[in-house]
This record gives sequence, structure tokens and C-alpha cells, in this order.
Amino acid sequence: MSNEIHHVAIIGTGPAGLTAAIYAARAGLNPVIYAGLQHGGQLTTTTDIENFPGFENGISGPKLMADMTAQAERVGTKVLYEQITKVDFSSSPLKLWSDDKEILAHSVVIATGATAKTLGIENEDVLMGKGVSTCATCDGFFYKNKKVAVVGGGDSAMEEATYLAKLCSEVYLIHRRDHFRASKIMLERAQKTENIKFLVPYSTTELLHDKTGLTGIKIVNLETDQTETIELDGFFMAIGHQPNSQIFEPYVDLDDHGYIIARNHTETKTPGVFVAGDIADPVFKQAITAAGMGCQAAIQATKYLENNNL
Ligand SMILES: Cc1cc2nc3c(=O)[nH]c(=O)nc-3n(C[C@H](O)[C@H](O)[C@H](O)COP(=O)(O)OP(=O)(O)OC[C@H]3O[C@@H](n4cnc5c(N)ncnc54)[C@H](O)[C@@H]3O)c2cc1C
Repeated sequence: MSNEIHHVAIIGTGPAGLTAAIYAARAGLNPVIYAGLQHGGQLTTTTDIENFPGFENGISGPKLMADMTAQAERVGTKVLYEQITKVDFSSSPLKLWSDDKEILAHSVVIATGATAKTLGIENEDVLMGKGVSTCATCDGFFYKNKKVAVVGGGDSAMEEATYLAKLCSEVYLIHRRDHFRASKIMLERAQKTENIKFLVPYSTTELLHDKTGLTGIKIVNLETDQTETIELDGFFMAIGHQPNSQIFEPYVDLDDHGYIIARNHTETKTPGVFVAGDIADPVFKQAITAAGMGCQAAIQATKYLENNNL
């Protein structure tokens, strides 16, 4: 066990965590950041990022995250490629564990993200970014005037379908039940949109593809068992996200879906524990909003340390 008490330990190396690290390092706090199982976060699974400001021609996700990491390291962040497996925030200093290794810190920024749920059908991983997506705001632009499908029955599915309908020529909304979890207003808005066609109760059974990517899907009507093939350019899964919040549960407030509830920007109910990015954001879920919140968390952590002479 090391006796060193870090000023700030950051959990997660997505845009939120790395931005927090850049700000904390530049404030002289020598932050340590834990990368977990997916160093660079969700953006490492995608190719072109066209909506992160500063890149006239866009940038690839892995390159953006490699540059953010290098920037964080250059200003004094220690990046550790370890997963935080347990925490105890019941007393100060705060305690974290990476397997058996105990880590002590005066403040913590939780930036562990939220993982998009997928259907679990064959080839969805391989085709991610090549016709398959979990984010219409991120990827919809690549399907301008093209034919796409959205899977899901909740508010996010309705929102994604309505968003895509403004860009794409045709949108299929596929749902396996004939009733919807979505709110009445969101459902009706989607139903009234001319180029959204509802396919219920259908389930997607196969992703069809060639060497370049997705070409279509096979769906089955769950009432009649009849199979159909639809040619498609894009396939969006909008079936929810799993926030990576489980290990923090006793020390933070969670909403009904497991997102950490931030108060006064990035504070949690535990003094010294801050939160940033998708883990605390059921609404926007974008790299720029995650980075913005990472900045806020680092500034609030800095103030907390100052105010408590830590
Ligand atoms: C395919 C795809 C394409 C996207 N395209 C865009 C786009 O074009 N533009 C855009 O703005 N957004 C896009 N997004 C959304 C964007 O990726 C997220 O909003 C953003 O990555 C959220 O950042 P974050 O830092 O909150 O979390 P994440 O990026 O999810 O990072 C979470 C980090 O936490 C780590 N972690 C989790 N648990 C632990 C633990 N116990 N211990 C240590 N570390 C842990 C993970 O390893 C990871 O490093 C896309 C998302 C996906 C999936």
C-alpha cells in the first residue's frame, strides 16, 4: 500500500475524465487518472468525429482521444491503465481500489461514462461505424438523404427517429411490441412524421452486409413469424444506456436509470466527490458536453481542496 494521498483521482479516460485531468494538472494538482477497460472511452469505437470543435475536416475518434491523453500527460497527469474495482468514500481521505491496491485521494472525479445497450446480434460490433450506430446526433449526418432504421420503443428511439427523419429520406421505426414505453407526446410526434414508417411488432434477426458495411437487415414479424428483408444504409439502436455507476452507489444519488445525479454542476452528495460526462447526463451524451462537465468538475475539485486546506 502506498501512503501517497493524491489531490485528485479521476476515474475514466473519456473526454470528461481527460478534460478534468488537463484542468486539474494545470491547476498544479498532479492528478492521477484511471483508464479502466476502455482507454479513451466510447469515441475509440468510432471513426469520424465531425462535431467536436477545432477540426475543420473532422478527426477520428481514436486520434482525438490519443491527442487528449498526450495533452493531459504533457501538463502533468499520471495515466494508469487500471480498473477501479471498489471505493470507500465514507471518510477522508477517500479510498479507491484497483484490485488489491489501495489508492488514497482528497478528491475524486467520477467520469466512467454510460455504455449504449445493443441488441447482441451477430456482426453488430464489426459493423459499428460502418452502418450500425447507437447515436443519431453523432452519426445521422453521414446518412443524409439515405434510408435508415431505428430500433426501440422509448423516448430516445422516438427522438432519434424524429431527428433522423429531418436528414434521411426514409426512417423505419422497429419495435418488438405494439405498445410503447415512449411518452405520448414523443410517440405522436414520431407517428405524425411523414417519412417515419412504424414496423411493429418486429424483431431484427440479422444484419446484412458487404465488404464496405451494412446493406440491410432481416426482420421477423413476431405475430406471424414472417421474415422480411429491408435494404438500409444505416441502423440505429436506441434501446438505452447502462451508466457505469454501480460501485459508487452508496456515495452518490442515482436516478431511476442509474445515472449519477449531479447537484450544483458536478457535486455529489459526498464532499470531495465530483462527477462528469455521460455518467451524469441522460440527455445530451456528447463528447463536447462531457468535456465541458470535466472542466467544471476539475474547477470545483480545485475549489474544494482550497476551501478545505487539502
Ligand atoms: C459509436 C459512437 C459514436 C459516437 N460519436 C460521437 C460524435 O461523433 N460526437 C460526439 O460528440 N459524441 C459521440 N459519441 C458520444 C461520446 O462518445 C460520449 O458522449 C463521450 O465519450 C462521453 O464521454 P465520457 O468521458 O463521459 O465517457 P466515456 O467516453 O464513456 O468514457 C468512460 C471511461 O471510463 C472508464 N471506466 C469505466 N468504468 C471504470 C472503472 N471502474 N475504473 C476505471 N475506469 C472506468 C472507461 O474505460 C472509459 O475510459 C459517440 C458514441 C459512440 C458509442
